Amino acid sequence: MAKYTGPACRQCRREGCKLFLKGDRCFSSKCAMERRATIPGQHGANKKFGTKEYGKQLREKQKTKRYYGILENQFKNYFKKADAKEGLTGENLLVLIERRLDNVVYRAGFAQSRRDARQLVLHRHFTVNGKIANIPSLLVKPGDVIALKATSKELPKFKAMMETLDANISAKWLTVDAENVTVTVSLMPTREDVDFDIREQLIVELYSK
Ligand code: SF4
Repeated sequence: MAKYTGPACRQCRREGCKLFLKGDRCFSSKCAMERRATIPGQHGANKKFGTKEYGKQLREKQKTKRYYGILENQFKNYFKKADAKEGLTGENLLVLIERRLDNVVYRAGFAQSRRDARQLVLHRHFTVNGKIANIPSLLVKPGDVIALKATSKELPKFKAMMETLDANISAKWLTVDAENVTVTVSLMPTREDVDFDIREQLIVELYSK
């Protein structure tokens, strides 16, 4: 399964905004965007963030992909699916991506970042409706129950997470049971549930060329 293996902070610097890829570090003074918020590369400091129409569209698409940790081909496939559905393509796209298992694990507070969530899912720490699920892109639906495996609850990493888990900070379409480390998908997410500034219309314009 392909994934981006380069430095995370470089992606934020390229997009000119915090993508929150590194958990606690993103909220500290060690965040690269606090220290050096310039475009990476030798002449990065002199470059401007997408100013022309195409540049803006491209940056919006790249920013969204990077925020959710999705590579180009998979993102294009999401777009095709979103386009085939009824309603606004841009909103359909974001709702589809929001339903990814790795995103749900992160939004429930079980992982520090989406990158972290992806790795935890790949390492088979979670079940969906009682069965081990190790596909980060799996799309959840209302009624699905995602749970931390009983044996994983004994691991120090998860013990620490359980101590600070706050069921109230998750998205409103998810119901978290902090004691049992489970999350139930109570509703289908909507555009309003996407908690990041994304201008999806620019992505639609880019792919519609
Ligand atoms: Fe981005 Fe987090 Fe790195 Fe800051 S610390 S640049 S928000 S990944």
